Amino acid sequence: MYLALSMPQITDILSNFTDTELAYLYKFRLASYLPATQEKIKEYILRERGLDESTINNLVLTNITRTSSDHTQECPKCKSDKFIHDTDKVSCIVCGHTLVDFDKEEMRSELKEGFWELLGHIGEHI
Ligand SMILES: [Zn+2]
Repeated sequence: MYLALSMPQITDILSNFTDTELAYLYKFRLASYLPATQEKIKEYILRERGLDESTINNLVLTNITRTSSDHTQECPKCKSDKFIHDTDKVSCIVCGHTLVDFDKEEMRSELKEGFWELLGHIGEHI
């Protein structure tokens, strides 16, 4: 079953993301969402937040060289502190990096999950 998120729902979720987190989401996670949802995410990032491709690339480059905070709960790839906690693993909402993973097969199937399911997780954890 495919459920596309409405623009207000996407705006609601993504308004909690920093520009840098949006840049990572745009570059590394966009392809894992349904096409209709991808379009809405792009619209939010490019129009509402006013980020363009070169700004997005710069945000990622700047973030790579940024020193991590003392924060232990930080994604090693994008340095976000937004995670999805599942029974067998913890993964980064922003870039999809998995911190704990007991079942690789399960991880692959999760990549096909729609944004709808992610929304449920986000609602619980951020
Ligand atoms: Zn991450």
